[in-house]
Amino acid sequence: MSQNSRNPETLALHAGYRADPTTGSVAVPIYQTTSYQFESTDHAADLFALKELGNIYTRIMNPTCDVLEKRVAAIEGGAVALAVASGQAASAYSIQNIAQAGDNIVSATDLYGGTWNLFAHTLRQQGIEVRFVDPSDPENFRRATDAKTRAYYAETLPNPKLHVFPIGEVAAIGREVGVPLIVDNTAAPIICRPLEHGAAVVVYSTTKYIGGHGTSIGGLIVDGGNFDWEAHAERFPLLTQPDPSYHGAVWTEAVKPLGPIAYGLKARVTLLRDLGAAMSPFNAFQFIQGLETLPLRIREHSRNGQQVAEWLRDRPEVARVIYPSLHEDAEQRRRAETYLKGGFGGLVGFELKDGIEAGRAFIDGLELLYHVANIGDARSLAIHPATTTHSQLTAEELQATGATPSYVRLSIGIEHIDDILADLDRGLAAAAKAAG
Ligand code: PLP
Repeated sequence: MSQNSRNPETLALHAGYRADPTTGSVAVPIYQTTSYQFESTDHAADLFALKELGNIYTRIMNPTCDVLEKRVAAIEGGAVALAVASGQAASAYSIQNIAQAGDNIVSATDLYGGTWNLFAHTLRQQGIEVRFVDPSDPENFRRATDAKTRAYYAETLPNPKLHVFPIGEVAAIGREVGVPLIVDNTAAPIICRPLEHGAAVVVYSTTKYIGGHGTSIGGLIVDGGNFDWEAHAERFPLLTQPDPSYHGAVWTEAVKPLGPIAYGLKARVTLLRDLGAAMSPFNAFQFIQGLETLPLRIREHSRNGQQVAEWLRDRPEVARVIYPSLHEDAEQRRRAETYLKGGFGGLVGFELKDGIEAGRAFIDGLELLYHVANIGDARSLAIHPATTTHSQLTAEELQATGATPSYVRLSIGIEHIDDILADLDRGLAAAAKAAG
């Protein structure tokens, strides 16, 4: 049995590392170093020429980051992974790796706000157009595609609507027309495996569930190794044409002895080299600790999330509950059941019957849940978007994003379910009191 055919629970603990060869350390050491001694001038020259892969400088690679990268690549079933400084850096690099000024990508409208800003403003300022389409109809991606389209982009489980993205349907369109699908799987690690459904690249904010303990910011890009860049060479000159920044290397050619890692290798040796958003080894260590228990935690997040959603559904103060397995729309439920396995995650949304003041009172009435702009922590978290993250939006915009005035987002943690429900009960009592 090959090591990578083991199950995620096992890979999360073992992939990419055994014991430290010099000390026998079972825990992955933090290699807190900037640089690495070359064995000889020949060795140094071979490393720089990529004739041999090895450590040069921590902006581009580090042994602690390497274990995290190998572990996540193994869990995802990908060819190779790249650790970066944040989820935002992962999203930006995942596109900049194959798109340049004059190109476009097609993205689902349902996105984390930071990604929306990156796409609508910063990438646009760099000359990369992002065409936003409604993901409820996968064919919208085909309709927005032209000869300059370099990628499709979507989140597996975007909040606030929690509509699971039709990964297989859009990946299949992409493979017909020669466009890779990049999936941000931050909200559904382990329970969704985008590469199995045809995605070409997976990105993560490791800040969330992978870290799990709210200590560190980080991101990852996983190259699925399953997209034939050469078959669509005219779309991907950055991978299939000589790269003047690397002595004319053609990435799809250069990696032939190494495996299908053109996309992953190029991101490392050009984008990390030039833009420099490297993950710190200390943060990689934190993410490795988180990853070891992620399969266990995500099951518990999902179990608690489901119970909270069902409990809220029966409460008189609540107008509507938003949870992947409880969507009223049958197609939304089908997508959740197709793409999420072993649970529906820890994110739960709901709308109170009374408006914005009830939402505010609910949050202020909580004692256990933290009031923070974050998701994926082992602790339960709550936020009222209309008075915080979405407070600059107009009433129409709030409606369009799904963050309606009385909408509350919960990121359910792994505390005992009775304690979570008792706190939600406190919040609902405060909301009811505020509504009079
Ligand atoms: N993607 C999603 C789905 C997120 O929720 C976030 C952060 O909230 C990001 C990306 C950005 O990650 P980071 O905060 O690590 O830059």
